[in-house]
Amino acid sequence: MSRIAYVNGRYVPHHDAMVHVEDRGYQFADGVYEVCEVRHRHLLDMTPHLERLQRSLSELRIEMPVAPHVLPLILDETVRRNRVVDGLVYIQISRGVWRRDHPFPPPFVRPALVVTARSSDREAADAMARNGVSVITVPENRWPRVDIKSVSLLPNVLAKQEAKEAGSTEAWFIDADGLVTEGSSTNAWIITKEGVLVTRPAESGILRGITRTRVLALCDEFDLKFEERAFAPEEALEAKESFITAATSVVMPVVEVDGQPIANGHPGEIALKLRDNFFELAEKRRAW
Ligand code: PMP
Repeated sequence: MSRIAYVNGRYVPHHDAMVHVEDRGYQFADGVYEVCEVRHRHLLDMTPHLERLQRSLSELRIEMPVAPHVLPLILDETVRRNRVVDGLVYIQISRGVWRRDHPFPPPFVRPALVVTARSSDREAADAMARNGVSVITVPENRWPRVDIKSVSLLPNVLAKQEAKEAGSTEAWFIDADGLVTEGSSTNAWIITKEGVLVTRPAESGILRGITRTRVLALCDEFDLKFEERAFAPEEALEAKESFITAATSVVMPVVEVDGQPIANGHPGEIALKLRDNFFELAEKRRAW
């Protein structure tokens, strides 16, 4: 089946879906994005994703190019036209097209909106979760405003490539104090020997992941204790379990850091339970 993309008001075949050479997203990485999980044809957590998108736009003083009630319709329509049952929706908004110059373009220039959707292989992801993944650590080298979901992802791209070349799945950024901030495209978690879930506070240094927020809510549901504080990779190696979260990978157990096993080197029970229950609860609470 041929894929369809939404580009500035039109649904076009994916191979014809183009942005202008003077699009500021292309030239300056002057834009923001969101990735939402699609499960059984429905977007999970659409409201918090759209709220975070609006926040990213506001922080960068980019206008939302469509009326607030229109974007959910475009997302649903893109999912429908691509016949995605389980997969992802990608939304990108750039500051629009204008002659290349660093300051903002004049106010009449409309921000550019692109939406794509694709299916993902749920079974492959579940198989990966059953084995767990390994992570490497890299020095934090991103700008401080990582709370904004900007398309400027060069440090993340380089970190992920380094992980891949090391045979790992993710790279954790390590700040100047030797503490984990987050992964290149995921939030990082450990579960201590006492059974306490630990993840870095979202006030600075990380993106406030929607999946992260959801897992914190699941902790209440399952009476699990959690602490929002930073942890070092050494503490991860002493932990009972570890996992990473993102809309793309949900809860993914981590079994190795820099080549060293966590606990017995197998996915932990709590991480797998959170993964199993994630979708069930997500569907019960459509209101999110
Ligand atoms: N941190 C970074 C740097 C990310 O790119 C992502 C994925 N968007 C996350 C965390 C996880 O966020 P979410 O759970 O909203 O996908």
